[in-house]
Amino acid sequence: MTVPIEPFEHLKKDFAILNQIVNDEPLVYLDNAATTQKPEAVLQALETYYHTSNANVHRGVHTLAERATSQYEGSREVIRAFIHASETAEVLFTRGTTTSLNWVARSFGELIVESGDEILISYMEHHSNIIPWQQLAKKKNAKLIYMELTEDGQLDLEDVKNKITDKTKIVSLTHVSNVLGVVNPIKQIADWVHEQNGYLVVDGAQAVPHMPVDVQALDADFYAFSGHKMLGPTGIGVLYGKRALLEQMEPIEFGGEMIDFVEEQDSTWKELPWKFEAGTPNIAGAIGLAAAIHYLNNIGMENIMQHEREIVEYIMPKLEAIEGLTLFGPKDVAHRTGVISFNIDGIHPHDVATAMDMEGVAVRAGHHCAQPLMTYMNQPATARASFYLYNTKAEADKFVEAIIATKEFFL
Ligand code: PLP
Repeated sequence: MTVPIEPFEHLKKDFAILNQIVNDEPLVYLDNAATTQKPEAVLQALETYYHTSNANVHRGVHTLAERATSQYEGSREVIRAFIHASETAEVLFTRGTTTSLNWVARSFGELIVESGDEILISYMEHHSNIIPWQQLAKKKNAKLIYMELTEDGQLDLEDVKNKITDKTKIVSLTHVSNVLGVVNPIKQIADWVHEQNGYLVVDGAQAVPHMPVDVQALDADFYAFSGHKMLGPTGIGVLYGKRALLEQMEPIEFGGEMIDFVEEQDSTWKELPWKFEAGTPNIAGAIGLAAAIHYLNNIGMENIMQHEREIVEYIMPKLEAIEGLTLFGPKDVAHRTGVISFNIDGIHPHDVATAMDMEGVAVRAGHHCAQPLMTYMNQPATARASFYLYNTKAEADKFVEAIIATKEFFL
């Protein structure tokens, strides 16, 4: 019998790490919401940079310094085009989503939030989009308010609309939940927030890797994401912000690279985006992220989104047919990505993940850095599979088989 070739099957050859045996089984890597694997093109970009161009950026006039600077700044342009920002001045390099969101809370939040103001987030946020706002709210004596969710894990839009008032200074919301897979209607919420003269911050960590994102069309005031969740290296991420807002903000870190002129008692800052980038940046990381974006662009973000939807559509009925399996988040593929959280009655999610690993299937178990959501759903933890462009329907089948095997083993 010939096995039909799946459209994305050929990508596997670009990811050496995926072609290995784990616990006597071919690896099925389904922990992409935590981090993704890196294609050869990204590994090579890193290696080539260190082999041929390594130098510090912006400072030197020698050839390597100019080469490193032009590759680093060229990467910023690749990212700008990828997220459709209007200019590179609006694209700041950070360590990742966590740093990006902390910068917004600490710099922009510091600037505009006052005592009695409201900051609105949702129950589906990752800790990195909760704690910076908790800290700001405490410092400013502001109120941190949560948007409610519906039964199937979508935002309760009526509640959202009611909670956005003239007291709301900042709404900070995830574009895609790392637990429920749900895609939030960012543009609609941006309109509501702006009608009340508030600002919208978007955590795009789980969106940018999986769908086309246009920050201008979404009208997000700030948009944060991480390189390592989109085939890029760890330690590099992005904060997009509208120029008018970034210009008003103070840098969070001070030191070399970000200054214009330093006197004994005072200093002035460089222009955007450099005023935020103190110290030697993650030059190789930025170049690696640009290589990851070239790889994604070659496949096409629409195609990647469609591929993941097909896998979810294919697998949902199979999962729903398993007795004792609870699925979290919406079932309708139009409102979700390939993040699938689940629990099996009577088996702790950690045991589920350990048993599935014995079948070669890598899934995550725990609170997924979303403890308020776990409390809200009345679950101590969940198991989570998260698919990406290199996963296939055959692997989705293996995932279902591993769940059934786990159930049989424990029950
Ligand atoms: N936000 C969401 C929705 C995430 O899934 C994650 C990572 O899991 C983060 C933020 C934090 O990303 P990082 O650890 O790369 O800063």
